[in-house]
Amino acid sequence: SAKAAGSGYAVFDAAMNEKALERLDLEADLRRAVDQEEFLVYYQPKVELSTGRIIGAEALVRWQSPERGLVSPAKFIPVAEETGLIRPIGGWVLREACFQAKRWQGYLPPDYLPVVSVNLSAAQLKHPGFVSEVARTLEETGVDPAAVVLEITESMLMDDAEKGVETLFGLKALGLRIAVDDFGTGYSSLSYLKRFPIDTLKIDRSFVDGLGREPGDTAIVRAVMGLARALGLDVVAEGIETAEQLALLRELGCDYGQGYHFARPLPGAEAVEFLARARLA
Ligand code: C2E
Ligand code: CA
Ligand code: CA
Ligand code: CA
Repeated sequence: SAKAAGSGYAVFDAAMNEKALERLDLEADLRRAVDQEEFLVYYQPKVELSTGRIIGAEALVRWQSPERGLVSPAKFIPVAEETGLIRPIGGWVLREACFQAKRWQGYLPPDYLPVVSVNLSAAQLKHPGFVSEVARTLEETGVDPAAVVLEITESMLMDDAEKGVETLFGLKALGLRIAVDDFGTGYSSLSYLKRFPIDTLKIDRSFVDGLGREPGDTAIVRAVMGLARALGLDVVAEGIETAEQLALLRELGCDYGQGYHFARPLPGAEAVEFLARARLA
């Protein structure tokens, strides 16, 4: 009946409205979070698979919200990207990670240079002042640029390829390194691997997950290894959770890895202990 249909729409409208309000509330809270610096950086150790040696860590942002608790980046990074808040947040994460890497250098013997990886968003990379912003952060924190890796995704390179090439060469000239994150999940022609100054491919967790169970995943990892070797790139596997996955990745010749099998992302202080212990081991 007309009445039932009407109430159906009313329910639908109310649900839409609630979603929109939730989103507005999240956005308002996130704006305040930027002002109040409510963010934390966790660090997930990265391991050399052939030796088990810790070679550094990936910086992963968290939002410590007074009303929401510890919020995962999957929840707020998309909103930060849509609103432009990712630029101040990402700038803060980079600075924090560089300070941390500098601190690690102080705790550890001089022959041991732990590397910190930092995730970038498209809006950061596209911003005209980005390279000089990174240069300033390197200078202010005093970190060795060779200890910093910036992680980008394939789609960020496809967007505006000409500008992207220029920016990446600018970043490389500062002495830091570039990794392609979630490799194999974005649509791409692979030809960008020849044009961009890339050092590392990170095999996405979705392929590591099926290693040894899904023949397709094993084939993809094997193919990425072949490609990386031919192009002289390092490979990092993400999301290693089991000893079986680790054994297969070693067999396939994968250089480095991260995952719960080794360690979860840790707060800064715990990450220092982890690195120091790993150095002594
Ligand atoms: P990502 O860069 O691919 O980071 C890997 C994610 O996988 C992290 O989630 C990490 O905690 C999780 N992970 C690591 N090992 C394992 C494992 O063995 N099993 C499983 N199931 N998961 C594992 P997290 O920290 O929630 O970050 C999610 C995503 O948020 C990141 O994916 C990255 O795209 C984004 N992100 C995090 N921090 C930043 C940041 O500072 N800036 C930007 N732009 N994005 C960030
Ligand atoms: Ca609120
Ligand atoms: Ca990453
Ligand atoms: Ca990933």
